[in-house]
Amino acid sequence: MDLSLGIVRDPEYLEHKTGLGHPEDPGRLTSLYQMLDQEFGGRFLALAPTPASLEQIELVHSPAYVQLVLSTARRAFTNLTSDTPSSAHSCQAAWLAAGGCLKALEALMAGQCAMCLALVRPPGHHALSGQAGGFCIFNNLAITARWARRAFGLKRILIIDWDVHHGNGIQEAFYREREVFYLSSHYYQAYPHSGDWEEVGLGGGAGYTLNLCLPGDAGDDDVLHLYREILPQVVEGYDPQLIMVAAGYDAHKDDPLGNTQLTERAFAGLGSLVRRLGPAKGIPLLLALEGGYSHEALTSSVRQSLLALLNPGYGEDILAQADSFRGRALANKARHIHGPYGVWMGGMM
Ligand SMILES: [Zn+2]
Repeated sequence: MDLSLGIVRDPEYLEHKTGLGHPEDPGRLTSLYQMLDQEFGGRFLALAPTPASLEQIELVHSPAYVQLVLSTARRAFTNLTSDTPSSAHSCQAAWLAAGGCLKALEALMAGQCAMCLALVRPPGHHALSGQAGGFCIFNNLAITARWARRAFGLKRILIIDWDVHHGNGIQEAFYREREVFYLSSHYYQAYPHSGDWEEVGLGGGAGYTLNLCLPGDAGDDDVLHLYREILPQVVEGYDPQLIMVAAGYDAHKDDPLGNTQLTERAFAGLGSLVRRLGPAKGIPLLLALEGGYSHEALTSSVRQSLLALLNPGYGEDILAQADSFRGRALANKARHIHGPYGVWMGGMM
C-alpha cells in the first residue's frame, strides 16, 4: 500500500541556541535535514510550519508560564530551568515547534498524507503545564492532542513514547482523562524519575496510562518483543482515531544521555509496527522528534524509521524475529497490572 509521508522542517528550529556543550543542540537537526535531502529527496511532502496560537498553547500551559516564556524573547540568555536554557529566538522556535506538530495534524486530517514526521526542536514531552524542563519548553504533542480533540472532535488518541526518558509532561496532561491513552517505555531510574509501573492514571483516566519500565541494559530484542506483544493489543482494545509518537532516539546504545542498549535496527522494527497498526489500517500517524543526542546515532535511527515508514515490509523481519525472555516477562507484567482496568485487555484478569 502506498502511503504518503509528510515531513515538517524549518530553519527557524536551528535558531534555538542552548549554549556550548549542551546536548540538545541545533546540530541534531542539521544532520537530520542533510540526511533527508541526500537520501529521501522527493519521497516526502514538505510541510512548512506556522507558529501555534496563544489559544492552542494555553490548552496545556498556564497563562503565567506562557508569559514567562514570552519574556525571554530577544534576551540573549535565560535559564528557564537549570537544564533548559533559552536564547533570543528560543521563544519563537518553541511556538513554531508546537505549530509544526499542529501543521502535521492538519495535513493528516485533511488527507494530504497518511503519516507525518515533525522534525522540530525544542522537544516537548517533559514540559509541564507551568514549567519547562528536560530541554523542553512547550509540550508539542500534548498541545496537538488537545487541539485534535477541540478542532477535529477526536475522542480517542493514542500517544506512544519510545524516548528513553519518561514523558512526564504528557502523562501529567492526560493522567485523569480517557480521551488520550499514554503508553511510554523508558528507563525509570533516569530523569525525570517518574513513570513507574503503578502509575496507571487516576479517576476517569485510570488504566489509560501505561508505563513500561525497561532495564538499563535492555536491547533490541527486549524492546521489540515487548512492543510486539503489547502495542497491537492496546491498539485493538483502545481503537484510537489518531496515533502519535513521541519519537525520541536516545534509547540508542551510543546516546550520551541514554541508558539502554538499542541499535538503529530497533527503530526499523518499531517503525514497521506503528505503520502496520496505524496508516496501513487507515489511522493517521504523527511522529514528533523528542530526544536523541548523538548526531550519528540519531541520524542512523531516524533513517531506519523513515525506511520502515516508506517501504512496506521493511523492518518486519527484525520485529518478527525478536525473541526475548525479558521482553515476554515485561509484557506479562504490564498485563498483570492493567488487567483489572479492562481498557485494552477486554476485562481480562
Ligand atoms: Zn529523552
